[in-house]
Amino acid sequence: MSFLKDSISIFKKSELSYVERYKESDGVYSFVFEKQNDLTWNAGQHGIFTIHHKKIKNAARPFSVASSPTEGVVRITTKMGDQPSDFKKALLELEKGMSIKMSGPVGSFYLKEKRPTLFIAGGIGITPFRAMIKQLEAEGVENGHQVRLLYLDSGQSFIYKDELDEIANNTSIDIAFLETRDDLYQEIDSFISSYNNNAAYFIAGSKSMVSSITNHLKSNTIQKQNIKKDAFMGY
Ligand SMILES: Cc1cc2nc3c(=O)[nH]c(=O)nc-3n(C[C@H](O)[C@H](O)[C@H](O)COP(=O)(O)OP(=O)(O)OC[C@H]3O[C@@H](n4cnc5c(N)ncnc54)[C@H](O)[C@@H]3O)c2cc1C
Repeated sequence: MSFLKDSISIFKKSELSYVERYKESDGVYSFVFEKQNDLTWNAGQHGIFTIHHKKIKNAARPFSVASSPTEGVVRITTKMGDQPSDFKKALLELEKGMSIKMSGPVGSFYLKEKRPTLFIAGGIGITPFRAMIKQLEAEGVENGHQVRLLYLDSGQSFIYKDELDEIANNTSIDIAFLETRDDLYQEIDSFISSYNNNAAYFIAGSKSMVSSITNHLKSNTIQKQNIKKDAFMGY
């Protein structure tokens, strides 16, 4: 039932007014849109965003909603690279008064239970976790709900670092900023040895990163139903 509900909402369409953009780090930008009253999502879900202020080929892309509904705006964050695609160039050209379409929210990448949880983010894969962590901060993390974020960024840009540090200081959410895959695997193994299949494992990042971590978890006997993943195509 829940799978159906998470998929069927793709048919919900919203028109989002552009508010502003800001630079998170070199080549990484957040875009903020007004949230319509009837639009909500589970923190961690994504939408399909379509450009319509100019004609471009392949005008739609999936993006995690990087804000929680409690923030009252829709925010997406993306990497432009040296040669942005037409879609990303069009995002950079947005001006106040223009809008973008969103289908969704979609997907089951969100917290359903209060059991121990490991979030594993690779680079730009931090976006859904920002939303989930902001939601947990707003709701208050329940006593005994162990939440740990492992955030790997070999380029050490660590977008959102200041706000994540602040949340880690004020809540029981534990965050590790990691620069190497070896450190990441060590942290994952340590979490597995404490919680094994009594925990939920969420992974987001490039397709190759998500698939190698999934294989690592499975080879350490973590069952498929305890693993949720968002593989960002195009990275
Ligand atoms: C659930 C989900 C959430 C995402 N969230 C974010 C996010 O928060 N931030 C973010 O920056 N990106 C996110 N992405 C990725 C995003 O949709 C874009 O693919 C990415 O940003 C690259 O876009 P682009 O316009 O730069 O390049 P594109 O022109 O889309 O693609 C770059 C390269 O990847 C290849 N490619 C693109 N899509 C696919 C595909 N489906 N299968 C195989 N190859 C493909 C293209 O052929 C091209 O060579 C998410 C993807 C998914 C599925």
